[in-house]
Amino acid sequence: MTQMKTINKKRIALMASRNPKSEAVYNQLFTTLKDAGFILSSKQPDVVISIGGDGMLLSAFHKYEHLLNTTRFVGVHTGHLGFYTDYRDFEVQELVENLKLDRGAKISYPVLRVVVQFKNGEKISYRALNEATLKRLSKTMVADVMINQVHFEQFRGDGLSVSTPTGSTAYNKSLGGAVLHPTIEALQLAEIASLNNRVYRTLGSSVIIPKKDRIAILPVHNDRYSLSVDNKTYIYDNIEAVGFYLDDTKIHFVATPSHTSFWERVKDAFIGDVET
Ligand code: NAP
Repeated sequence: MTQMKTINKKRIALMASRNPKSEAVYNQLFTTLKDAGFILSSKQPDVVISIGGDGMLLSAFHKYEHLLNTTRFVGVHTGHLGFYTDYRDFEVQELVENLKLDRGAKISYPVLRVVVQFKNGEKISYRALNEATLKRLSKTMVADVMINQVHFEQFRGDGLSVSTPTGSTAYNKSLGGAVLHPTIEALQLAEIASLNNRVYRTLGSSVIIPKKDRIAILPVHNDRYSLSVDNKTYIYDNIEAVGFYLDDTKIHFVATPSHTSFWERVKDAFIGDVET
């Protein structure tokens, strides 16, 4: 009994999207975890359980990103199988049983660090789990792309997106980028509708850069830009440069015994069972 109590002294925070299915799972989890002796608290949680979809997990990540070193995440999907979600809504009991047996094992994935440097010398920094995207609001974006402080190309088009390996299946994929296995520690730079003709020339394909490399985008025109970091968008003037590199901190997920392989998830999400 004493041993049981020690195991279940874990602090768990629950976050659910606003729909009846997620709320029902929230209530079920709240009761079952409490009965099992876990401490339900949104403050300093050891484990954050996000209920909804991958979008909800992004919100959970940003709410608790200041605790990435001490907090692990679990995703419960109330629809299909997601990329950040190991459990479906009908697997609540299995999740609670696994949490009872849990001894801190984790699966960790890279996180992107984005630093906006302004012309007055000020800086703002963000972390992204999926990607960060820079666009010029009024006209075609013209920007110099640097890799490790060496000029790579001058981009003209709608914008540029830099994604993490786990974000490679999100916006990056819609932009024609490659799907990257999340154990590969790299970033991917993808173009959004680049202008390519006799006058303007960019690589035209996405670029995958290793962990040690850094990307910087330097907008040519002093104008208004949008920077989307996962599910939030910020509008800025006077940007000197935006830097992108892999953060020192990773996101940690509670290791699940029944963890579905990444390729199965990719197949489930994008291919399905096509009759041949
Ligand atoms: P949202 O419109 O609710 O989410 C967009 C879709 O992206 C949802 O179906 C979501 O899955 C899915 N998704 C999120 N992360 C994913 C990942 N790592 N791999 C595969 N699919 C993923 O918007 P949101 O909730 O604010 O999410 C913001 C994200 O939407 C951004 O990070 C960006 O990647 C993505 N996005 C995509 C496009 C595009 O593909 N054209 C455009 C803008 C934004 P769930 O249904 O499981 O939540």
